[in-house]
Amino acid sequence: MKYDVIIIGAGPGGIFSAYELVKKKPELKVAVFEAGHALDKRHCPIDGKKIKSCIGCKSCSIMSGFGGAGAFSDGKYNITNDFGGTLYEYIGKSQALDLMRYVDEINMSYGGEGTKLYSTAGTNFKKACIQYDLHLLDASVRHLGTDINYIVLENLYADLKDKVEFFFDTPVETVKIIDGGYEILCKDQSYTCDKCIISVGRSGSKWMEKVSKELEIPTHSNRVDIGVRVELPAEVFSHITDELYESKIVYRTEKYGDRVRTFCMNPKGAVVNENTNGIITVNGHSYEDPSKQTENTNFALLVAKHFSEPFKDSNGYGESIARLSNMLGGGVIVQRFGDLIRGQRSTPGRIEEAFITPTLKATPGDLSLVLPKRILDGIIEMIYALDKVAPGTANDDTLLYGVEVKFYNMEVAVNEKLESCYKGLYIIGDGSGITHSLSHASASGIHVARNIVAD
Ligand SMILES: Cc1cc2nc3c(=O)[nH]c(=O)nc-3n(C[C@H](O)[C@H](O)[C@H](O)COP(=O)(O)OP(=O)(O)OC[C@H]3O[C@@H](n4cnc5c(N)ncnc54)[C@H](O)[C@@H]3O)c2cc1C
Repeated sequence: MKYDVIIIGAGPGGIFSAYELVKKKPELKVAVFEAGHALDKRHCPIDGKKIKSCIGCKSCSIMSGFGGAGAFSDGKYNITNDFGGTLYEYIGKSQALDLMRYVDEINMSYGGEGTKLYSTAGTNFKKACIQYDLHLLDASVRHLGTDINYIVLENLYADLKDKVEFFFDTPVETVKIIDGGYEILCKDQSYTCDKCIISVGRSGSKWMEKVSKELEIPTHSNRVDIGVRVELPAEVFSHITDELYESKIVYRTEKYGDRVRTFCMNPKGAVVNENTNGIITVNGHSYEDPSKQTENTNFALLVAKHFSEPFKDSNGYGESIARLSNMLGGGVIVQRFGDLIRGQRSTPGRIEEAFITPTLKATPGDLSLVLPKRILDGIIEMIYALDKVAPGTANDDTLLYGVEVKFYNMEVAVNEKLESCYKGLYIIGDGSGITHSLSHASASGIHVARNIVAD
């Protein structure tokens, strides 16, 4: 079967490439191959009762399927060049922002209208932060919420399904270069195309590594972010989250000069497990629907670890630390901040007595046995710094879940069109290592689609 364009991966990168391709050139024959299920078939079996923890499904419904890793996410589209990826380095700052705004318009017209757009511009909180050497990054944040995000995806699929051919539960095994295009090999069949967009996200990182090796596409990798998810009563951060929803705050530690940052803030949200290649780490989300909200706010505190030669396996380093927490706790470990400071493990009794109810069932334990000292020291220093702008952050009962790891895909060499060294082979989204967010991944999809149409 022959197509004009084949897209590998139906996450935001793949979806928005398909959207823009058929919008700008409806006559194009486009196919999307997705390893995971269709949206309505995506169900994580963890129900908290019969199945309490990850059972390692063949295709993880949280990470894979129509909507990609973003399908059950909090749906926070950060419109900024300050974080979420380095797309602007390839296509320029103003174009990157224009594309993110365009994605926002599409989301609004597919069910997101009425959701809030928050902005850090002109906020007094920035001044309060800087007095304590905390740096609030600039961004506009569209918060769709897990529920509306899902509706937007449903509507996008309903629109695309008659214009684009979708192959679900069809992982692509190999990409081959053939005369005048590409051959896409799946388990039972192969397909050819003139142009190919690879958008395999984080879950496709190992596959991307393999394909890059086979095709001799240069790659580069040296970073992993490691830390904890903090959970506290929503009131502690409400003056910030009510105004900004998501605040990305960066702090440089006095002790080592390391950068620690807040990441993925979920007001009135829940802490959740995340399964990356069989290793259980922690994440968080929140709902727009008040009936699903909790009394707690959670966010990650992450320390970026960069490695220099000869060490190359930064993700392997992060995985080893996460594996250690899984070994000690059978999954994610939770510890009260007060226990951590006193050098004692949290016990089920101490968690029970706390003035906060954890939203994730994790094993009470001791994070100092898991996290490297330098990383833990940085996190503790930042918690005390945050306590100055959000008093209560450093309370004894503040819960720390570990570990949270943010893996970065290795960066694949592409040009300003996000085209690899092979003409017509594009690599976009989180799978390219260039983006790490919904808005940047989606924008990269629009960008390649426009380049393909213009070619
Ligand atoms: C729990 C959670 C919450 C998050 N919350 C937010 C948030 O609020 N805001 C934000 O900006 N970001 C968030 N993120 C990150 C965001 O989801 C990703 O940055 C974004 O989804 C990247 O889009 P993508 O299209 O590049 O990749 P993905 O969304 O990962 O999609 C890639 C797709 O490719 C498929 N695939 C992989 N390999 C193959 C193959 N060989 N053949 C066929 N298909 C393949 C996968 O199954 C997957 O569906 C969150 C992530 C998680 C896991």
